[in-house]
Amino acid sequence: MKALVYHGPGHKSWDHVPDPTVSEPTDVVVRIDTTTICGTDLHILKGDVPTVEPGRLLGHEAVGTVVATGDAVSTLGEGDRVLVPAITSCGRCGYCKRAMPSHCQAVGGVGWIFGHLIDGTQAEYTRVPYAETSVHRVPEDVTDTQVLFLADILPTGYEVGVRNGNVKPGDTVAVVGAGPVGLAAIMTAGLHGASRVIAIDRVASRLEHAKQFGAGYTINASETDAAGIDARLAELTDGLGVDVAIEAVGLPETFETCARIVRPGGSVANIGVHGAPATLHLEELWIKNVTITTGLVDTTTVPMLLQLVRDGRIRAEQFGTHDFPLDSIDEAYDVFANAGRHNALKVVLKR
Ligand SMILES: [Zn+2]
Ligand SMILES: [Zn+2]
Repeated sequence: MKALVYHGPGHKSWDHVPDPTVSEPTDVVVRIDTTTICGTDLHILKGDVPTVEPGRLLGHEAVGTVVATGDAVSTLGEGDRVLVPAITSCGRCGYCKRAMPSHCQAVGGVGWIFGHLIDGTQAEYTRVPYAETSVHRVPEDVTDTQVLFLADILPTGYEVGVRNGNVKPGDTVAVVGAGPVGLAAIMTAGLHGASRVIAIDRVASRLEHAKQFGAGYTINASETDAAGIDARLAELTDGLGVDVAIEAVGLPETFETCARIVRPGGSVANIGVHGAPATLHLEELWIKNVTITTGLVDTTTVPMLLQLVRDGRIRAEQFGTHDFPLDSIDEAYDVFANAGRHNALKVVLKR
């Protein structure tokens, strides 16, 4: 088959590789019908994720069709259409039993293994371990593009941002960073009754997307300074600050912005993938009764999000701005890596 092979920092190619096969009784093999590229893949290509070894097939989000099943698989069969999420769940370890497969012990202690510790989904076929407890059947009445982004970004924005941030009816929520994951938090904040959603970013085109995803207010951080952001937020929150500040960038300064703009009793929910230490201003925070959360997505909310997609409450297909055939994946990477120039959010790759 053909697949996208990582050859070390800065190098990848669309190569001929051996077809995957069932190697454990709980495996299935899935033909990839639709997949996408994640910001994490760009981090891997920069060399930021050294646990990804050269030779690894990248990708951790897909919709596909089951073509082979292991002997222990009884609830999935050939021809079944499934969503393959970013997180693998054995269903049996202590973390999986407490609905936290982000730390599944059976797959090495971190549930994100596709395109990381095992071969991934940017390929014509992929082997899916612990398939019955990991994949989700896709109902006939939804398209691949409607469900594809439930593999990672939508549950990430919802679980790690909105749910961990404990957004409540009437809350004012600021989302710092309006990339795909920040937009997913904006899109799902309304599910918990957020009253005002404020998007903060440095790029005007992203803020335009944020409005389409449900932000009622935007602040362009490139046109003002910290004092300007604080003044605008004070206007929008009766001087109190926001109830929930969601960090969706992963830089020290954006985390510190969130800790500064949250009101007493509020929450800071960090989603961003950080590569450098951020300063925690406990000298200001200790008296504010602020809750700070972090996390890797569990994807345990996929069934709920899927129901909302079916009922038209979430238009997840809005993330897919550019379509490519799977074998044009190099071009798709170029567009996604230069998303600002192409006004791209996520690319959709189809077989
Ligand atoms: Zn991802
Ligand atoms: Zn597990």
